[in-house]
Amino acid sequence: MKFGFIGLGNMGAPMAANLAKAGHDVTGFDTAGVEVEGVTVASSAAEAARGAQVVITMLPNGKILRAVAAEVIPAMEAGAVLLDCSTVDVDSARDVAAQAQEAGLSALDAPVSGGVGGASAGTLTFMVGGDEAGFKTARDLFDIMGQKAVHCGPAGNGQSAKICNNMILGATMIVTCEAFALADKLGLDRQAMFDVVSTSSGSSWSMNTYCPAPGIGPKSPADNDYTPGFAAELMLKDLTLAQQAAETADADTPLGRAARELYAQFVENEGGTGRDFSAMLPRFEKRGRS
Ligand code: NAD
Repeated sequence: MKFGFIGLGNMGAPMAANLAKAGHDVTGFDTAGVEVEGVTVASSAAEAARGAQVVITMLPNGKILRAVAAEVIPAMEAGAVLLDCSTVDVDSARDVAAQAQEAGLSALDAPVSGGVGGASAGTLTFMVGGDEAGFKTARDLFDIMGQKAVHCGPAGNGQSAKICNNMILGATMIVTCEAFALADKLGLDRQAMFDVVSTSSGSSWSMNTYCPAPGIGPKSPADNDYTPGFAAELMLKDLTLAQQAAETADADTPLGRAARELYAQFVENEGGTGRDFSAMLPRFEKRGRS
C-alpha cells in the first residue's frame, strides 16, 4: 500500500520506519526536514498525501492538525483514509473528521499509548474513533505499528478514550507519589509499602508497573534518575485536554482538575520539564504540609 506520513518527530519517525520496513511505500513530510530510513521525502504535506491510500499524521496539537488537514484533504483521492495518531482536543478531531467526510474520505482519530519505546518496537496501543470502513482499512497498519487497536466509536472517541485514560493515570501517579512520601514520614519502609499495595486494593499501573520509587518494583524511569519515559509536560498536555473536554461536556472532574494544576506547577515553576511524570515523588519528598 502507499502511505503518506506527516509529522516525523519522536513518535512519527519510528512509526513511519516500521511501515517502510514492512514493505510499504511511505512518503513522509516534516517541517523540520527530518529524514527517516526507507521513507521517501516529500517537499510538502500535500505532496506526501497525493495518491496515498492512507495519510497518517503525528503532530503536536489540534491547531497544527487543522492546518495540515486543510492542506492534505484536497490532495487526497475519494475513498482514502485520513488517520490522525496525534493527541489533540476532541473538537479538533471531530471537525477534521467532518471535513474529511465531506470530501469523500474516511477519517480516524487514533491516539496512541506506549510512548517512544512502543513506537520503535511496534507495540503501541491505538484508541480509535471513526467509521467502521476506515477502521477496517487501517487495521493492517495498526498491526504493524502496534499490538492492539480498540475501536471506541465515532469520530473523536479515540481522543476521548485517551484523555480519560490519562486523567486516571495522572491522578493515580500523584496519589501514589503522595503515599510514598507519607509512608517515608511515617517510617514505613518503601519495599514493604510496595509489597503490600501492589497486591492490595491500592494497586495500580503506577504502583505495580511504573513504580515512582527508585529501586522498588520493576525497572522504571525512577531507576534512571527520572529520565522520561513519559515526560511531565506531555502529562500536563493530556490533563489540559481532559479539562478542556470536561468544560465543553459540563463534566465535574475535581481530581482531574487538581492533577492538572499540580503538573502545571511542577512543569512551569518547579523544574519538572524534561523529567518523567513520576518525578512527582522527589517533589513531594521535599515538601511539608502547607
Ligand atoms: P514531536 O514534537 O517529537 O514531533 C512532532 C513533529 O511534527 C515534529 O518533528 C515537527 O517538526 C512536526 N511538525 C510540526 N508542524 C508540522 C507541520 N505543519 N507539518 C509537518 N510536520 C510538522 O512530538 P512526538 O513526541 O512525536 O508526539 C507527537 C504526538 O504524539 C503528540 O500529539 C503527542 O502528544 C503524542 N504522543 C506522544 C507520546 C510520546 O511519548 N512522545 C506518547 C503518546 C502520544
